[in-house]
Amino acid sequence: MAHRIIFVFVDGIGLGAPGSSNPFSTISLPGFERLSDNQPWDSDAKPVAGKDFSFRGIDATLGIEGLPQSGTGQATLFTGYNCASIAGRHFGPFPHSATRETIRRYNVFTRVNEGTGTSAFSNAYPPVFFEHVRKRDRWTVTTRACLDSGTDIRTLDHLDLSRAVAADITGERLISNLNLPVKVITEREAARNLVSIASDHAFTLFEYFHSDKAGHARSPEKARQCLESLDQFIQGILHHIEGTDMTLILTSDHGNLEDLSVRTHTRNPVPFAAYGPGADAFHIITSITDVTPQIVSLLEAGNAPSSSPR
Ligand SMILES: [Zn+2]
Repeated sequence: MAHRIIFVFVDGIGLGAPGSSNPFSTISLPGFERLSDNQPWDSDAKPVAGKDFSFRGIDATLGIEGLPQSGTGQATLFTGYNCASIAGRHFGPFPHSATRETIRRYNVFTRVNEGTGTSAFSNAYPPVFFEHVRKRDRWTVTTRACLDSGTDIRTLDHLDLSRAVAADITGERLISNLNLPVKVITEREAARNLVSIASDHAFTLFEYFHSDKAGHARSPEKARQCLESLDQFIQGILHHIEGTDMTLILTSDHGNLEDLSVRTHTRNPVPFAAYGPGADAFHIITSITDVTPQIVSLLEAGNAPSSSPR
């Protein structure tokens, strides 16, 4: 059957020891827990492999010592190549120069586009982002992959038309941090907009980084805000994809938020969840290197023209 994928990338969440320093232990998260067969997202969670859902911890250390970082972690996640190994170390937050060619050739957008589908990056970027990156050439892994693949980097104009999702989901921070004239919406409305974008593409990515910032801040209150907001967003996505050809994937690039006793990233496994008709294609995933190859193979197998003679 044909498939579509919605990939919600959540920066800096791992599966850590349960306890008072782990916000996944202390906050009620029914949306997250629907993806894990009602288990809290911590190191005690058992892998689950059902027909329509898949959940487990996967490796983000990539066989390299030290703490995983966003530049190499995201480049690995979005290409399927071990970019920490290519760079010789964990590196971030921006992509390491040695990995640029790998990102250019093998990023998930390009690979989906070269198959039988189209891809989209749903985040809305404010004007200040473009001014900043053009001055300093500091594209993130995902925006660099957009440039390399010809994928639109959406703006506040798209957001205004409900054809993009704010980086903080609701748009609140665009007002409070940047004083921009946007309309704040609920997480449920943002989820509906994301699913609507995804209905036009084989593959649609949304990237959320406030989780990593909350982890670096060691802030239980910021952790709660992020996770409760994401939880509503997940519940909204699950509601809107029910009975469709869409599969939700959610994973991360490295741990951080799950251990508020430290300011840094962690070497914990990161959660991987898939929910929807393509979920069983992801039961074999054990590392962040496996995610993009499985996305590409699921979309190619499902969306290829039938080879049987008529
Ligand atoms: Zn990160």
